Amino acid sequence: MAYDNQNVFAKILRGEIPTNKIYEDEYVISFYDIHPKAPTHVLVVPKNAYVDFNDLIQKADATEIDGIFNAVHNVAKQLDVIDAGYRLLMNVGSGAGQEVPHLHIHILSNKKN
Ligand code: AMP
Repeated sequence: MAYDNQNVFAKILRGEIPTNKIYEDEYVISFYDIHPKAPTHVLVVPKNAYVDFNDLIQKADATEIDGIFNAVHNVAKQLDVIDAGYRLLMNVGSGAGQEVPHLHIHILSNKKN
């Protein structure tokens, strides 16, 4: 997949589409998925323009990768799903069901927060 800067998450990051941000730091923003597939379904979206996980691993340095995954953990803590358990999901490529060509990590939990 090629990076398309008109994708919905790029527009959210540029403030062109409103969203209810629940978390933001140097590396990511996070907000609820518009079509939740679990009682808690949140997306963590890196601020930099990576198409998918493959692109991240090829281009990002260790500090940024660490920052992104620490942010995922911070969001899970904020959602209070650490003890209940949660799933992390990245669809990588259209063949795997990736719809938005901007890297994002799904956090899904059966616990409604
Ligand atoms: P994926 O299939 O991994 O690319 O997931 C894309 C996800 O983005 C889907 O679960 C959509 O429901 C979600 N989504 C699309 N547009 C928005 C939006 N404006 N705000 C929040 N979530 C969105």
